Amino acid sequence: MTISEQAVERRQDYDGASPFPGAEEHVPAGRLQAGLTAAIVVLPFVALGVAIFLAWGQGVTLTDLLLAVVLYGVTGLGVTVGFHRLLTHASFTARPWLRVALAVAGSMGFQGNVIDWVAVHRRHHAFTDRPGDPHSPYRYGAGLRGQLRGLAHAHLGWLFAGDQTPAERYAPDLLADPAMVKVARAFPALCALSLALPFLAGWAITGTLYGGLTACLWAGLIRVALLQHVTWSVNSLCHVIGDRPFKTRRHDRSSNVWPLALLSFGESWHNGHHSEPSCARHGLDRGQLDPSAALIGLFERLGWASSVHWPDQERIERRRAGPRKQACAPAGD
Ligand SMILES: [Zn+2]
Ligand SMILES: [Zn+2]
Repeated sequence: MTISEQAVERRQDYDGASPFPGAEEHVPAGRLQAGLTAAIVVLPFVALGVAIFLAWGQGVTLTDLLLAVVLYGVTGLGVTVGFHRLLTHASFTARPWLRVALAVAGSMGFQGNVIDWVAVHRRHHAFTDRPGDPHSPYRYGAGLRGQLRGLAHAHLGWLFAGDQTPAERYAPDLLADPAMVKVARAFPALCALSLALPFLAGWAITGTLYGGLTACLWAGLIRVALLQHVTWSVNSLCHVIGDRPFKTRRHDRSSNVWPLALLSFGESWHNGHHSEPSCARHGLDRGQLDPSAALIGLFERLGWASSVHWPDQERIERRRAGPRKQACAPAGD
């Protein structure tokens, strides 16, 4: 069957009111587009490196960067291990105190309160790349203009849409958990804490107010910006560019983007994740770096995590897509 025949067949599945005009005629991102997207992502970070070099000793110090790395790790793993793998997908069971600690750490990532985050993400899995998905890059069709507009929507634009995801429908379990309701209510205070901690640490270590301010800038705001863009890149890039070695549901175009694996703590093995959503490890193949899975393994060894859903090799092999479906082929079946 040709791609256009597949498109015609798929178009018949949609009701006439579909807000995804042309999404069916998806063609893989061309080299030009993929290069442009990569430049948009990489260049600001190169600029950041240059800025650090130029400002070294005045506007940024080793203390600032070390604090940034520590807080990036704590809040990032709070999102990936806590918000995502534990609370959204129940890929393991955590001791109650660990569950709260992870929810608190994730809340300090400035990505919304824990209950709303989980509700939105469950809705994304329920409607992946179909009408109803809160942040699909295919929302505006698959032509170049629509795809670029869709990438902007999936990355950031969706946050500005008045498209509420009802927690009563998507996260009733968390609404029924008094500890999670408390953490969700404390979200604004936890955001303030996320900036106050580096400020106080910088002030204490350097003994100067200026040291506190540069620590707040680098280990507070710039660290938040980096983590936000990495998380949003999983929503945008990891549904457009990269490989699709595993079968996913019809229309689900999630992909694996290896360059983001370390910064995203393993979340950019997004095709593996959409193929096996409740699996505690997203990097399903050998050599796929997945620090979040390593942390869950450590929690298990310490006796803090149980009922961990580790990959089942036989099942994984059954989920493997044929060569035809690899590398950005339209997802299907
Ligand atoms: Zn996704
Ligand atoms: Zn997920």
